[in-house]
Amino acid sequence: GNPGNGGDGRATSPLTPVLTRRWLSPRSWTLRTYEQLEGYVALRRALAAHPDQLIQLIKDSGLRGRGGAGFPTGLKWGFIPQNDGKPHYLVVNADEGEPGTCKDVPLMMADPHSLIEGIVIASYAIRANFAAIYVRGEVLHCIRRLHAAVREAYDAGYLGRNILGSGFDLDVVVHAGAGAYICGEETALLDSLEGKRGQPRLKPPFPATEGLYASPTVVNNVETIASVPYVVLGGAPWFRAMGTEKSPGPKIYSISGHVERPGQYEAPMGATLRELLELAGGMKGGVPLKFWTPGGSSTPLFTREHLDVPLDFEGAAAAGSMLGTTAVQVFNETVSVPWAVMKWTEFYKHESCGKCTPCREGTYWLVQILRRMLAGEGTPADIETLLDICDNILGRSFCALGDGATSPITSAIRYFRHEFVELCERNQPARQATETALAG
Ligand code: NAD
Ligand code: SF4
Repeated sequence: GNPGNGGDGRATSPLTPVLTRRWLSPRSWTLRTYEQLEGYVALRRALAAHPDQLIQLIKDSGLRGRGGAGFPTGLKWGFIPQNDGKPHYLVVNADEGEPGTCKDVPLMMADPHSLIEGIVIASYAIRANFAAIYVRGEVLHCIRRLHAAVREAYDAGYLGRNILGSGFDLDVVVHAGAGAYICGEETALLDSLEGKRGQPRLKPPFPATEGLYASPTVVNNVETIASVPYVVLGGAPWFRAMGTEKSPGPKIYSISGHVERPGQYEAPMGATLRELLELAGGMKGGVPLKFWTPGGSSTPLFTREHLDVPLDFEGAAAAGSMLGTTAVQVFNETVSVPWAVMKWTEFYKHESCGKCTPCREGTYWLVQILRRMLAGEGTPADIETLLDICDNILGRSFCALGDGATSPITSAIRYFRHEFVELCERNQPARQATETALAG
C-alpha cells in the first residue's frame, strides 16, 4: 500500500521534497529502489571523511532535532566524549506517540533505508558500533519493514563488519516498545531498552554523557537521522538554503483533522498554516477553522489569528506556542474546545507514568473537573481550579509530559474562555453535539 498515509509530499519550495522524494516510487522501501535513487552514496562519502568532519558538517548545517525540542544535532553529537574507553551508542527514537504526530512511521514505511543510511553515518561520526531503533510496539507493519530493511542492509554490506571495506563495524537492532507514551521520553526509553520499567531519569546527566548502560549515547528522532544523508550529499549551504536562519532545512508536517486531504506534507521549515492548508486542499467542506495545534497536543493551541505564523522553532515560540513535532491538528468550528481539551487530558492522565506527584495527581483532577464540566455540572470556579492545578504541574513535574498536559488547557482558556464559561453557565452536556459533528 501507499505508505505516504494519504499525503502527496508536495512542497512549497523548488528545493523540496527532500525527505519524501522517494515515497511515491514503486517499492520505495526496497534496497533496490533506494540504490537506484542515490541510496548509500552519502555513506560512501561519509566513510571517506574523518568522523570529526562529519560532526562539523552537521553543526554547520544547523540541523535541529525533529523529535520536538529542536536541540542542535551537531552539538549533541559533539558532546560524546572522545577516547573515553567506553562504548558509545546511537539510539533512534521511533516511539512517535505525541497525539497527531504521524510522520516517522510513514517515513520508515516508505523509505527505511534513508534511516539506516543515516544511522550508519551518525554512528561512524560518534564512534558507536551499536545502534538501536526503539519503535513503538503498536506499529507491527513498520517493525516488520524495519527488520526487512536491516536484513537487506546487512546482506549488502552496509551493516555488520568492515562496512564497505572501511574498517568500521556497526550492528543495528530493531527494538519494539510496548505502547507507553512515556517511553518516547528519551531517558524512559533508555530504561525500557535496558529491560526496566520505562520511567524518566533525572537530567543531567544527559544521555550524551550517561545514556544506555551509563555510556555516552546519542538519542535522535527518526526524521533527524533520516535528514543526515541529505546533508552529507547536499552540503551545509544547500541545507541552509531551506527554512529559516535558525531553523534550517526541510520538515515533514503531519496534517490531520478537518482538512480535505490529511497526510504528510513536506515543506521548508517556517511554512505557515495558510500554506499548509493549501497543500492539504483547504478546510473540509469549506467549514471555517476554529483552532489547531502546531506540533501535537503538548504545544499550546493556535486559532485562526495564527494562520500566518511561520512554523519553525522561533516563529511558533514567538507567537506563544512551540513547534513541537509539527503535528498540525486542524479543528473546524463545529468542535467544542472544552471537549477536545478533555480528550487530550484523558490521554495525559492515562499515560502519566506516576513517578511524580504533580503530574500523577494533577492530571487525574484535571480530568475529573473537565468531565464534570462537559457533563453539564461545572461551576464557574472550575475554570480557576483548572488553571490553578495547571500552575502546580507546570515547572514542577519531573519530565516534559506534565508540562505538556497543561498546554491545551491553559491555551484553550486563554483563547476560548467563553466556551468554558458558557458550559458552566448553561449546565448542559456539550459532549454529544460535538461527537455527532466529528462523526459527520
Ligand atoms: P529537552 O529540551 O530536555 O532535550 C532535547 C534534547 O537535547 C535531548 O536529547 C537532550 O538530551 C538534549 N539536551 C538538552 N540539553 C542538553 C545538555 N545541556 N547537554 C546535553 N544534551 C542536552 O526536551 P525533551 O524533554 O527531550 O523533549 C521535549 C519535546 O518532546 C517537546 O518539545 C515535545 O514536542 C516533544 N515530544 C515529542 C513526542 C513525539 O512523539 N515525537 C512526544 C512527546 C513530546
Ligand atoms: Fe511521570 Fe508525569 Fe512525572 Fe513525567 S511528569 S515523570 S510522566 S509522573
